[in-house]
Amino acid sequence: GATIGILGGGQLGRMLSVAASRLGFACHIFEPGVNPPAGDVAAKVTTANYDDLAALTAFAKSVDVITYEFENIPTEALDHLESLCPIRPGREALRVSQDRITEKDFLVGLDLKTAPYAAVDTLEALADALATIGTPAILKTRRFGYDGKGQARIMAPVDAPLAFANMAGAPSVLEGFINFTHEVSVIGARSIDGQVSCYDPGENVHRNGILHTTTVPARLTSSQRMDAVLLTANILNALDYVGVMGVELFVTSEGLIVNEIAPRVHNSGHWTQNGCVIDQFEQHIRAVVGWPLGDGSRHADVEMHNLIGTDMDRVSTLAAEGNAALHLYGKADVKSGRKMGHVNRLVPKKPAKT
Ligand code: ATP
Ligand code: MG
Ligand code: MG
Repeated sequence: GATIGILGGGQLGRMLSVAASRLGFACHIFEPGVNPPAGDVAAKVTTANYDDLAALTAFAKSVDVITYEFENIPTEALDHLESLCPIRPGREALRVSQDRITEKDFLVGLDLKTAPYAAVDTLEALADALATIGTPAILKTRRFGYDGKGQARIMAPVDAPLAFANMAGAPSVLEGFINFTHEVSVIGARSIDGQVSCYDPGENVHRNGILHTTTVPARLTSSQRMDAVLLTANILNALDYVGVMGVELFVTSEGLIVNEIAPRVHNSGHWTQNGCVIDQFEQHIRAVVGWPLGDGSRHADVEMHNLIGTDMDRVSTLAAEGNAALHLYGKADVKSGRKMGHVNRLVPKKPAKT
């Protein structure tokens, strides 16, 4: 079979490798860090930095297609890899999603709603943005943020200098605070020939900026559910996207507001491993190798619970629970805030609540 190159060897790369190997594909991981979680599963691992052109060349020449588990790959590395091997999802999705301003401009261009936003590079620009957007607001770094890192809440204009200092000079964006009732996400997939399939939206609860639980079905009316899926399809088509994408949404009385998009498999899609015949990882592999998409319809109600840091102490208790499907990432050192695994609990499917 073909060999799939994956940029990034974390838990997402690991679960992609498991799905790929089930379909008879070998995976080659490119990852700067030593002993990556995906290393136990993949056929081959290259440990090198993204500025190592020789390593990038050898990697690209050893694989048939390149995909990735995170969106912050340096542009020069991507340019080089792309000259040697197809990258899926394509560069446009990365260009759009690597920067929160580019991403929001793109979403607004599709007539989708986002939080009010303004680029902030100086303390004066922050004061101006606060005058327009108001408080409460959130200042976020434009690039490289994840799990709520690189963010500062601004409850009143007096908080501005401290929030600005927290960004440590990184180009930032001020976002108006959305008074949402709850958060949901759609995991969507698109094949090379343009077939689109979306998983049922999940409802997400965050703790300390990190995803805590995803529950399906989400609390949505049938028209909200339809909106969520259609807007995701809209985004996938606009990017001529190939692969799986996560779309995070705020649910408000004025409709759905797009928080952010992630051009990859997504933590809030982990429930699909036990709730669907074809999960998000296999769906992504199918798309990037040019296969048709599989059946992503949901056959159970699922609650996905992330295991963060010392949550790992509960593994033996969870293992004794008959209905808890454990997915552990094989990470050696337990650190606070580190995603160590997750558990999916299934209950027979009920009619969707509205
Ligand atoms: P991820 O790990 O999902 O990539 P991230 O670091 O990119 O996280 P965001 O998704 O932007 O961060 O924000 C994390 C959480 O903070 C959101 O899921 C939401 O709960 C809250 N949040 C972010 N932006 C806003 C906003 N404009 N209004 C209200 N809440 C927000
Ligand atoms: Mg994010
Ligand atoms: Mg997010």
